[in-house]
Amino acid sequence: MKSRPLIFVISAPSGGGKTTICRSIIRVCSGVKLSTSLTTRKRREGERKNFDYHFVSQKEFLKKIKQNAFAEWATVLKNYYGTLKKNIEAPLKQGKNIILNIDTNGALQIKKIYPEAILIFILPPSLDVLKKRLVGRKTDSQHEIKKRLNLARKELSFVKNYDYAIVNDSLKKAIRKVESIIIAERCRVIKK
Ligand code: ADP
Ligand code: 5GP
Repeated sequence: MKSRPLIFVISAPSGGGKTTICRSIIRVCSGVKLSTSLTTRKRREGERKNFDYHFVSQKEFLKKIKQNAFAEWATVLKNYYGTLKKNIEAPLKQGKNIILNIDTNGALQIKKIYPEAILIFILPPSLDVLKKRLVGRKTDSQHEIKKRLNLARKELSFVKNYDYAIVNDSLKKAIRKVESIIIAERCRVIKK
């Protein structure tokens, strides 16, 4: 049976584990595609061009906004991030499921355009653990980590707008929970 075209949005404060979880999900769930966003943020060590992100200049990003190419976009800590409409529409047309790893602002924009989108929030066990994970990731400066932790406090208040919330304590269990949501949503009976 072909899977129902579905959009899953995954958000978490920076360091919450959404990238790790999304990468595992595309390995364990067939028919799920992960959208690659555009960003003006500088590439971190180890990040791959056109895989982790399409890294673009601010000029290029603003041009895409003018062209109305984005399904959603937002600024996070002074950098632009956005999902191209074609990154959503093309997989959906092919009957695929799509995962968007985007911030809370972008998630709400997606829910407005696609009310059937399923929003999943990944919660860290605590802010202390979040800090430890950001430090352990070794991709951000102390100053950057401080900014991300301040933003995390605000982002956590958005959980009420999401359909599901998962605490990422054990990574294995968190991945299984996201996978279970995908399986359940694929089985949902649509009442017309
Ligand atoms: P995000 O994409 O939300 O910013 P990442 O996926 O980059 O977060 O995860 C941040 C760091 O925390 C990474 O180094 C990752 O390996 C680690 N991590 C993620 N989930 C867990 C977990 N459940 N237990 C321990 N470390 C984790
Ligand atoms: P990071 O710089 O840590 O990769 O991402 C910072 C934040 O931007 C995260 O919350 C991440 O989910 C979000 N983000 C990544 N891509 C997009 C996108 O295309 N749109 C929006 N709105 N947020 C994004």
